Amino acid sequence: MSLSSSASILEVLDSLFKDKKKPIPLHEPLFEGNEWTYVKECLDSTFVSSVGKFVDRFERDLETFTASKHAVACVNGTSALQMACKVVGVQAGEEVLVPALTFVGTANAVSHCGAYAHFVDSEEEFLGIDTQNLETYLESIVERKNDQCINKKTGRRIAAMIGVHIFGHPLDMEGLLKISQKYQLPFIEDCAESLGSYYKGKHTGTQGCVGVLSFNGNKIITTGGGGALLIQDEELAKKAKHLTTTAKTPHPWDFYHDEIAYNFRMPNLNAALGCAQLEALPNYIERKRELARVYKEAFSKVEGLKFLEESGENTSNYWLNAILLDKDQAPFRNEILETLHSAKYLCRPIWIPMHKLPMYENHPRMDLSTCESLVQRTINLPSSVSLVR
Ligand SMILES: *Cc1c(COP(=O)(O)O)cnc(C)c1O
Repeated sequence: MSLSSSASILEVLDSLFKDKKKPIPLHEPLFEGNEWTYVKECLDSTFVSSVGKFVDRFERDLETFTASKHAVACVNGTSALQMACKVVGVQAGEEVLVPALTFVGTANAVSHCGAYAHFVDSEEEFLGIDTQNLETYLESIVERKNDQCINKKTGRRIAAMIGVHIFGHPLDMEGLLKISQKYQLPFIEDCAESLGSYYKGKHTGTQGCVGVLSFNGNKIITTGGGGALLIQDEELAKKAKHLTTTAKTPHPWDFYHDEIAYNFRMPNLNAALGCAQLEALPNYIERKRELARVYKEAFSKVEGLKFLEESGENTSNYWLNAILLDKDQAPFRNEILETLHSAKYLCRPIWIPMHKLPMYENHPRMDLSTCESLVQRTINLPSSVSLVR
C-alpha cells in the first residue's frame, strides 16, 4: 500500500515535469518585470531606507489591489502580526486564540506582546479553524465579566482571535465573524499566504479587524522581507502607522516621540521591489491557479489521497498546492517525502503544530486531534509561478 502510494505520486510529478533538469524547489520567487528598474531608481535616489516614495506607493498599490481602506507596510509579516495584536488592544498577560496549525510566526507575534497563544483546532477541508468546535469549546471555558471574555481555567482575559488562511484557502469567515461578534473578540486575519485570495468576492484580510500580509521570499510576491497591515478603520490605521514608525510626531526637523514604539517600517528599497512584484501579481495568480488545475486533474486518478481545493464561492491564490493523504496512508508520509526528495521534488510536510514546540507545549489549548491528524497527512507540492509559462 505504502509503496504504491509513493510510486503513484512520483509518477504524477514525473508526467507533469518531464524535462526537469535540476531539483524542483517547493517555491521560488520570480523577477521578470520592473524589479531591476525600480530598485535601481531607488538606489539612484539614495533614499534606500526609512524615507522615500516607494513605501507610500506600495501602500497605495496594496490598498487598490485588495480594496482595503488602509495599508501599512512593515518589516515582515511577524512584526505586522505583533502590531495587529497591539492595535486591537492585546495586553501582556492576556490570551489570544491562535490555530495550533500555523507557521510559528503567528504564535510568536502574540508572545512578543507578552500575551499567551491559546491553541484551537482545525477543519479538514481548507485547514482553517474549525468554527463549530471552537464555538462549543468557548461555551465551556469562557466566563463573561463586564463585557470581557475570561478563560475560566486560567483566569486570564481572552483578548483577540487570529485566523490563518492556510496555503491561500479562505477561512470560514462567516462563522468566525459570528464568534468574534458574539464574544466581542477582535478578529485578526493572518493573510501571509493569501494575497490574491477572496472570500465571497472580498479580498482576505479586509473583513476582520486587521489583516496581515507577508512578503517573505517564499510568498506569492516578495519584497525580500516585508509585511503589511490591512485596516478598514482610520483610527486603527493611524495607530498602526504611528507604532511602526517609532511614534514620531511629524515635524520638519525635531525628534519628538510620544510613546515607546517600534522601528518596524518597511525600507524604501524593499518597497521598490514590492511595487514591481505587485504589478506582476495578477499574472502570478493566474499561473498558480493554472498549476492547481493541472495538479487537481492529475491527482484525481490517484487513490489514497485528495488534492486540496478551493470551495465554490471562494477563490484561492493556491500559494502552495497540497495533497492530503487518507488516514490509513498517514504512516507512510515520511516514506513518500523521502521518495519525492530522492527524485529531486523538494516537497515538504506542513508545520509541526505549535503545541508540539517546546516553548508552547504548556499553553492553553482545546482538543487538537484534527490538527494532529492533518499534520500527519499533508504534503506540499512544488508551487512556483515559474513552473507555468
Ligand atoms: C510567512 C508567514 C508568516 C510570517 O511572515 P514573515 O514575513 O516571514 O515574518 C506568518 N504567518 C504565516 C501563516 C506565514 O506563512
